[in-house]
Amino acid sequence: MSKNSLPDFNNTELAFRHLSDKDIRRGKKLFQLLSRPWLVKIGSLLARVALFVKFPIGWAVRPTVYAQFCGGEDILESEQTIDLLYKSGVRTILDYSAEGVDTEKELDATCSEILKTIEAASNDPRHAFAVFKPSGLSHNDLLQKDSSTFTASEHEAWERVIRRVRSICASTAEAGGRVLIDAEETWLQDSIDKIAEDMMSDFNRERAVIFTTAQLYRHDRLEYIHSLASRAHESGFIVGVKLVRGAYMEKERERAVKKSYPSPIHADKAATDHDFDSAVEFCLDNLDRVNLFCGTHNEDSNMKLCELMMQRGISVDDDRITFSQLLGMSDPITFNLAANGYHVAKYVPYGPIREAMPYLIRRAKENTSVAGQTTRELALISAEIKRRKG
Ligand SMILES: Cc1cc2nc3c(=O)[nH]c(=O)nc-3n(C[C@H](O)[C@H](O)[C@H](O)COP(=O)(O)OP(=O)(O)OC[C@H]3O[C@@H](n4cnc5c(N)ncnc54)[C@H](O)[C@@H]3O)c2cc1C
Repeated sequence: MSKNSLPDFNNTELAFRHLSDKDIRRGKKLFQLLSRPWLVKIGSLLARVALFVKFPIGWAVRPTVYAQFCGGEDILESEQTIDLLYKSGVRTILDYSAEGVDTEKELDATCSEILKTIEAASNDPRHAFAVFKPSGLSHNDLLQKDSSTFTASEHEAWERVIRRVRSICASTAEAGGRVLIDAEETWLQDSIDKIAEDMMSDFNRERAVIFTTAQLYRHDRLEYIHSLASRAHESGFIVGVKLVRGAYMEKERERAVKKSYPSPIHADKAATDHDFDSAVEFCLDNLDRVNLFCGTHNEDSNMKLCELMMQRGISVDDDRITFSQLLGMSDPITFNLAANGYHVAKYVPYGPIREAMPYLIRRAKENTSVAGQTTRELALISAEIKRRKG
């Protein structure tokens, strides 16, 4: 498809046609529960206690939040979701959700699992990207430290980290795929930026294979994207960048107060939105050397990108631009973009239920903290249930 057309995010028939009546009713119930902050607070607390005392919680979590936000316990179990998405033109980004891994054995195991996602995606058009979190491949204290102060054993551990990252990037390039490097907390991000830039410089010579992530709630990120693009231009590599607003705002602000340094986060949402919009425009203005991955559930941001593409005569299916949302969230955006021919992909987190719990708690909290968006999603789900009843 090369003709541009703007999506209609209110089209509930297209938004939910991949869901059975039963699934859509489950979604409605879940979003109703998530719209009550007190319930999410108590639920999150109970889940944390249950995890701590090793109380079995799978029976409660699996048919509810897990079914909504995760693909399955492993890649094979996620197949059904991958297929379902692809039937509606939505591609998958398998996201192995391992958090709090620490031993060298666990870090190696995470690396092997990510390599499996790359293998699964190879020559399979249902997959769009691979993805990894650098903290899943390295101890956090190493990421936090300046490498010039490493001890001999830290130096060895760091070399193992770089080997893991490099094996993921090299396998992706070899498989003809693309890989996203997630962004994390500011105190880890300087090392992550350095790794990401080194990998882009090595693997993005012909096409964008490696994508770094910029969190636009940080007041230094717009400038960072500009300088990254000029460095890339000078040294002859293509930038791949995932733009997001950022997921760790409260944590960042709390730490800045506690340790008495200026908060790295914008003072208000309007400033974050401004920088997000400016970053999107910058990527579109430099599309020949900057590939854009737009990760947001914000309806206006998605529509603005569609409008900018239209104004600039960029085809909806230009593969230098990808839209993306998380599984179980913002289906009206994802599926209406896909129906209009845009490249759109869902993060599909997978992994054992217990290991996915921190991710699920974050999803529950995010859906509560963006009450307006949850209300909107609920309204659209209700409209679709009504429409189906005729
Ligand atoms: C596909 C995908 C990949 C993602 N990958 C990452 C990642 O690698 N790293 C990461 O950190 N996050 C990641 N996220 C999460 C993302 O950063 C946001 O937390 C989430 O998407 C909500 O932002 P929004 O643009 O969807 O929605 P919106 O509701 O428009 O924005 C909410 C966001 O705005 C910002 N914000 C809210 N209030 C304020 C305020 N008072 N002052 C300043 N800023 C404010 C915060 O970042 C908040 O999360 C990803 C999201 C998606 C969809």
